[in-house]
Amino acid sequence: MSEALIDKARALDEKDELAGHRELFALSDDVVYLDGNSLGALPRHVPDRMADVITRQWGELRIRSWDESGWWTAPERIGARIAPLVGAAPGQVVVGDSTSVNVFKALVGAVRLAPPERDEVVVDATTFPTDGYIAESAARLTGRRLVTAEPGDVTDAVGPRTAAVLVNHVDYRTGRLHDLPGITEAVHRAGALAVWDLCHSAGALPVDLDAHGVDLAVGCTYKYLNGGPGSPAYLYVAARHQARFDSPLPGWNSHADPFAMTSGYEAAAGAARGRVGTPDILSMLALEAALDVWDGVSVAAVRAKSLALTDFFLECVRAYVPDGRVVPVTPEAHAERGSQVALRCRTAPAVMAELIGRGVVGDLRRPDVLRFGFTPLYVGFADTERAARVLAEVLG
Ligand SMILES: *Cc1c(COP(=O)(O)O)cnc(C)c1O
Repeated sequence: MSEALIDKARALDEKDELAGHRELFALSDDVVYLDGNSLGALPRHVPDRMADVITRQWGELRIRSWDESGWWTAPERIGARIAPLVGAAPGQVVVGDSTSVNVFKALVGAVRLAPPERDEVVVDATTFPTDGYIAESAARLTGRRLVTAEPGDVTDAVGPRTAAVLVNHVDYRTGRLHDLPGITEAVHRAGALAVWDLCHSAGALPVDLDAHGVDLAVGCTYKYLNGGPGSPAYLYVAARHQARFDSPLPGWNSHADPFAMTSGYEAAAGAARGRVGTPDILSMLALEAALDVWDGVSVAAVRAKSLALTDFFLECVRAYVPDGRVVPVTPEAHAERGSQVALRCRTAPAVMAELIGRGVVGDLRRPDVLRFGFTPLYVGFADTERAARVLAEVLG
């Protein structure tokens, strides 16, 4: 039985147009890395680029690098690299701060864009915790009432009182992909603004922010975008909202003329309005280097491979793992699946520890979810078959 699936994996790897990208990453063949949805792997060329940033740009040019090495303009320049990956025309994405901080900017900004009589903020009931905590604070700060709704129920939860809605594009726990076009349209029909968190979708599947009329969005760069631990997040503000976007964190970096050092605040135009303070240049330039692996890559091809990988993993799990030991919680339907497979398993903590010990690195979402992230740029079909086979051995 396993011979047939091993042969199938080999055939799929041979046909894989993205297979060549794996060698761009520092990965060894004895580990199957299925945790790139938590911390993306290191692209091989990043250490050399960072050595230059540190030794030459910082060590030799020092203060001159703000201009000469392009440090000052890095947030917009790197935002422009991310924009095509999320379907945004130039000038709408800025990089900086954490996702949590950007959720705050985006949600308060969205509420301030909405008519003042709209007194409710709707947040995804299944959200990654930080978005929920920040939504609660943003609602309290802006004097709105917080309403929670499952993404599938947002259409019913929104109405004439809704100011803004915050939803995760892909559920971090189950891997469920939510209907961004449909939910955005329902939010707009109700006259409210849609804010999307793209942490688990950008770099794994097409997002098409502009095409679907999304109002604001945020996402992190250390997952599928491989920016490195704690690499800065990004903020998208649709061009039509930029002139009225009123950031709750108007730091001097988002001033129209920062070096005038005036006491009064005047917001910069465009994406720069989303900046706050001095950018974390080292992390930001590591991210910029890491984004090189996307040159010439089509997001549609990434999505096609991602679905093929998760389909194949589910097929191997069904073939290898004794009945009833794991239950997939990731939807079967492609339209509802992100780029991970989550399996419910009674003994998940012990199983994941054993898997990692045997070179199959996924992660655990307590209490009972085994999570396997599939990053099409560096995970192949043989890796996928091996992961399922080792899982069956551990459970057997
Ligand atoms: C990973 C993740 C975050 C992380 O936020 P940080 O501020 O970078 O810690 C936020 N939201 C979602 C949906 C995530 O998946």
